[in-house]
Amino acid sequence: MTDLQFPASARQQLLNRHPHLSDDDIVLVETATRQWFRIVARQSSAKLSVPSVVVDDLWQELTRHTQDYATFCDAAFGRPLPHQPRFTTSAGMTNTDRSALLATLNHGRRDEGCGPTGLPLLFRVDQEVRVQNGKRYLADCGGRGECFPVSDRVCLQHLAGPGKRPKPRGIRGELPFNDGRHGYAGGSGGSGGGEFSGGSDGGGGDGGGGGSCN
Ligand SMILES: [Zn+2]
Repeated sequence: MTDLQFPASARQQLLNRHPHLSDDDIVLVETATRQWFRIVARQSSAKLSVPSVVVDDLWQELTRHTQDYATFCDAAFGRPLPHQPRFTTSAGMTNTDRSALLATLNHGRRDEGCGPTGLPLLFRVDQEVRVQNGKRYLADCGGRGECFPVSDRVCLQHLAGPGKRPKPRGIRGELPFNDGRHGYAGGSGGSGGGEFSGGSDGGGGDGGGGGSCN
């Protein structure tokens, strides 16, 4: 998966759609796309959804190379992976969309070794390559018990609903002197975010050397 090579024509098609992309941007998009495929390969049973417009575009281009794509899917996933249309707006998201997005977020954090407040590449790439109509995500708006909307960004902390956190914040939240804002804006590393990773499958931490997760 890590050495998955993308056909030059798919790269060209991506450039046709997004002419402003530099060579470095393309490399970043390809890296994010590999992360997406890696997550899919590890989580064949979970419902996932691709959070990035530009990764989705490249994925779609790859599926046009029918024979190569079928061969790749067979090797990578042991099954076909048809391209699925992504949700359009956060307002139009169904509960299924939301849980698929959150599942993708959790697996992406594990893939990249992000803490519980980190943002894996797959969720950052649209913004980093400044793609038009790209998706912008915020790991946490900082609101407690309610979500403070931030313009044109999807707040992942409150995606499941204002009162329902997608994951428990860990034992620190029970300390009486803690106001509960741990982890916010301080960077996941500063508060020892790794201790919350909680991955009982032991599969985390092998990905993304050099990922910044923010
Ligand atoms: Zn929020």
